[in-house]
Amino acid sequence: MVRHECGFDAPIHCKRCGRPLVNSKRMGLYCPHCGRKVSMICPGCGRLW
Ligand SMILES: [Zn+2]
Ligand SMILES: [Zn+2]
Repeated sequence: MVRHECGFDAPIHCKRCGRPLVNSKRMGLYCPHCGRKVSMICPGCGRLW
């Protein structure tokens, strides 16, 4: 489960390896397992995650 800065919680998993993604202020959304970075729109506030 990752939390956007607006407070929205989303269970997002890596499309490549299926691990849960983590949210970092510097990196944005990424997978700590394979290093894949993910760009998506937050369903809670409509801004880029
Ligand atoms: Zn991954
Ligand atoms: Zn948001």
